[in-house]
Amino acid sequence: MSVITPPTRQAALVLFSGGQDSTTCLAWALQHFPRVETIGFDYGQRHRVELDARLVVLREIKTQFPQWANKLGEDHLLDVNVLGQVSDTSLTRDVAFKMEATGLPNTFVPGRNLLFLTLAAALAYRRGTDVLVTGVCETDFSGYPDCRDDTMKAMQLALSLGMDKRLLIETPLMWIDKAQTWGLAQDLGGESLIHIITEHTHTCYLGDREHRHDWGYGCGTCPACELRAKGWQKWQLSAHT
Ligand code: ZN
Repeated sequence: MSVITPPTRQAALVLFSGGQDSTTCLAWALQHFPRVETIGFDYGQRHRVELDARLVVLREIKTQFPQWANKLGEDHLLDVNVLGQVSDTSLTRDVAFKMEATGLPNTFVPGRNLLFLTLAAALAYRRGTDVLVTGVCETDFSGYPDCRDDTMKAMQLALSLGMDKRLLIETPLMWIDKAQTWGLAQDLGGESLIHIITEHTHTCYLGDREHRHDWGYGCGTCPACELRAKGWQKWQLSAHT
């Protein structure tokens, strides 16, 4: 009688915001895991376009990548409006983007990623999933301390201990820059994925969906647009030289 050990790491839960990074992470997860679910958070974002983009990107991935469509399971949207009660930032309130005296941008919501990871882990536990995938990045991290590799490792340990279950936090973008993130998307899904990212994902802090650039929609001047545009240009140069 043979003993069959059930394969582990069969499923991943992707923290999916509808932006460039998390869309690339979603494609990465679909390439690596037999079953993938997504989780998003509604925290009273000033711009609903971010939440709308999630659904459009999911639909487009299902339509354009039949090999991924049957791996892609449920999408979960959690209401975390409580964040608006404890923080006052330019992501949730109608105030202009600026750098604070702390050296952090006022888009930094203290504890946000920690809360998101905790909620994602709780959902993953219930769904029988033991891998979380998140698009945090220490290379272009805009100074957010909750995107650091050390923070992720500490969260992985705390969540694994606190839930008495070995949980992995995968961060495919941690050590690559924005140009390499475009390159990774190209490797994973070719021109179709690049098209989905430029046409449908949303990163701009100002919620601008009027101005279309080579790299997608956005105001072109906020830090998120600048980062995305610079990465695109660097990638284009490296791809064509
Ligand atoms: Zn912008």
